[in-house]
Amino acid sequence: MKRRDFITGTSISAAALALSGCHRAEETAEDGTVSINKAKKVTLKLATSWPAHFPIMGTGVDSFAKRCFELSGGSLEIKVYPKNILVPALQVFDATSAAQIDAFHSGVYYWKGKNPAFSIFGGMPLGLTSEEMITWMKFGGGYALWREMYGKFNLYPLIGGTTGPQMGGWFKKEIRSLADLKGLKMRIPGLGGEVMKKLGVNPVLLPAGEIYTSLERGTIDATEWVGPALDSMMGFAKAAPYYYTGWHEPGSILEITFNKTRWEKLSAEHQAIITAASEEMTSNMLQEFRYKNAKALQVLPLNVQIKAFPKDMMDAAKIALREVLEDESQKSSDFKRVLKSYEAFVKLNKPWDDISTRNFLEIRS
Ligand code: CA
Repeated sequence: MKRRDFITGTSISAAALALSGCHRAEETAEDGTVSINKAKKVTLKLATSWPAHFPIMGTGVDSFAKRCFELSGGSLEIKVYPKNILVPALQVFDATSAAQIDAFHSGVYYWKGKNPAFSIFGGMPLGLTSEEMITWMKFGGGYALWREMYGKFNLYPLIGGTTGPQMGGWFKKEIRSLADLKGLKMRIPGLGGEVMKKLGVNPVLLPAGEIYTSLERGTIDATEWVGPALDSMMGFAKAAPYYYTGWHEPGSILEITFNKTRWEKLSAEHQAIITAASEEMTSNMLQEFRYKNAKALQVLPLNVQIKAFPKDMMDAAKIALREVLEDESQKSSDFKRVLKSYEAFVKLNKPWDDISTRNFLEIRS
């Protein structure tokens, strides 16, 4: 019985306990005595798909782990392992599913091979912005579907950051019309890559470390990456000075995903702390991307020309996207289900967005 335990425990006032700032299980007896059991220390291994302390994404997960430690009074330690230390960058999903590690931080679209529906949780070309994606997840049914489908892999996902709008990419030559895309080789993953394929582009996947040299040598003609803050570090401007505005990743979602069995064994307190820290991380990351992209834009090399894709290309992209979504829905009933939920939110959101945010941004500009 716990009642017997506290009689031998330290007697301390509730006020002193509150002042201590530690997270402890406590029980109060009839005479007001409070028993304290220091929360059992839990250590979790989390692997990422990024290099150590990679700006914004990697430092974001470092801060998340630090916050979990602080908020738990030191009882929850999340050890962050950069890519390829415990497991290769793109095996973090399988390793967590198999309980070789406890959790991972990565991008959702990497796992579309596991289930095509996962690409929608990562974000949609020409679709929802980061804030809208998070709203769909939390209030529009997205999270429930994501957790159900990840549950089949014994995984429990949380949003672990978001990029805000990404740029359309760096091109060696100017794109004046849809016809200029024909036969171009471009590094572009996900649904955006599928759309580009229908527009005549040859989409290729390359590890981050090989993109610049491929561009410089002409093995590829174009690449997308993220936005000015992270793109500047890659030096793309030297090899491909035409920098296009974005359409294919308006609000990409990153994930902090746990092995589900491990998650369910965590205390309610630790689960609450992780959930709160992941929300904090998500809003911080969105703000950090906004601020650092704005700053980096001011100091892009002088040879960079910022361009918008031609209208005939964007019109064709909208049609191609419909075709891609229909193809995927034919092949996968999960994709069809997630798309239905996503589109229901798009339909709900649009009339309000039109007269609120969009209307205001037009007035303000
Ligand atoms: Ca990207």
